[in-house]
Amino acid sequence: MDARHSRPLLIDMMRALRQQLEILSRAGLTHLEKSVVEATTTAPAGTIPARSSAARPAAEMAPAPVAPKAVSPVSQPAPVIATPIPQPPTISPAISTLPAQREEATPQRYTGPAASATGIPATTGDSTPVRSLPAKAPQVPTENNSTPPDMPQPKSPRSRAQAQAALNVLNEQVKACRRCDELASTRTQTVFGVGDPTTRIVFIGEAPGADEDAQGEPFVGRAGQLLNQIITASKLKREELYICNILKCRPPNNRPPAEPECANCREYLLGQLSVIDPEYIVCWGTVAAQNLLSTKLPIGKLRGKFMQFGRAKVLCTYHPSYLLRNPPAKKDVWQDMQFFMADLGVDLKSKT
Ligand code: SF4
Repeated sequence: MDARHSRPLLIDMMRALRQQLEILSRAGLTHLEKSVVEATTTAPAGTIPARSSAARPAAEMAPAPVAPKAVSPVSQPAPVIATPIPQPPTISPAISTLPAQREEATPQRYTGPAASATGIPATTGDSTPVRSLPAKAPQVPTENNSTPPDMPQPKSPRSRAQAQAALNVLNEQVKACRRCDELASTRTQTVFGVGDPTTRIVFIGEAPGADEDAQGEPFVGRAGQLLNQIITASKLKREELYICNILKCRPPNNRPPAEPECANCREYLLGQLSVIDPEYIVCWGTVAAQNLLSTKLPIGKLRGKFMQFGRAKVLCTYHPSYLLRNPPAKKDVWQDMQFFMADLGVDLKSKT
C-alpha cells in the first residue's frame, strides 16, 4: 500500500482503538496497561521517547543525531537561592587587639607616725633626756664584737673631768696637725667635737662645712639645724650627746673627703671614742659609715640595723645634708631613729 494512503487509514484505526479502550475502561476493564492509553494519546508521530539516562552507558551520552526541534526540552532545575548563613559578629580589630588592662599599682606608704612638713615629727616638749633613759644591762663582748686593731682601749673608770681633760689634750694635737697639706692650709680652724665626754651616744658626721669652719663646732649650719630637729623629735638633748666628724678640717668648697685625709684623721677619731667609750654610735651619711666601719657598702645597705664597732652598737643613716636635697628620705631617717631609740628603751611610735 502506498504510504500516502496508509497514513490516514492508520490514524483512523488508532482513533477506533482509542474509542474501544475508553469503552472497555468505562466497563471496568482497568487491567489494561495505562501506558498503552498514554502512548496512543500523547506521543506525537515521528518522536522517540526519551529514556532515563540513569543507566545509559557513557558512550550513549553523546548528543543524539536528531533534529533540535524533535528533542524534548529538558527542564532546567530551579535556580537555588542561597540562604545566607548567619555569621558570628566580627570583633573589631581595634578592640580584639587591646592589651589586657593592668592592675594599678598600689603605692607603698609609710605607716609609721605622721611626720611634720619637715619629715620629722614635731616635738611635744616632753623629750626624754639621755640620762633619764632606762638603764641598759652591761654589754657582754661576744665573738662578733670585733674591736678594730687601731682602737685604743678605753680607760675606765674615769670621771667626767678626767674624760674632758683627755679630750682637751687630744684637741690640742688636732689644732697643731698638718697631715693634710691642702686642708691645713685652707681651714679657718679645726673642728674637734662637742658634747658630754661621758655620754652613751656619739654622733659622727662627715667633715666641717663653711659654718662649722667659721664657728669651730660641728653641725651648726642648715644641716645642723635639721639634725637638732631630729634630736629633739627623738626625745634626746644635744648637750647630752657627743658630736664630731670623720675629718677635723673643712675640705675646700665642701668637696668629699679624700681617702688619705680620712686615714690621716682616723687616729683622732679613735682617740675620742676611746676616751668617751660610748654604748651607741650613729654614723650620719656614707663617709662616716664607710670610714668608721672600714667598708665599701653603700649607706642604703648599712642602715636599718645595728653594726658593731668595739663594744658599741653602730646605727648608720642618711646625712642631714642629704635630707635637705632629698626630703622624701626623711621618713627613712625617722624609721632609723625609731629603731635606734627602741633599743634604748624609748618608744617613738607612741603618740603619748
Ligand atoms: S683633717 Fe685631720 S689629719 Fe688632716 S690636717 Fe686636719 S686634723 Fe690633721
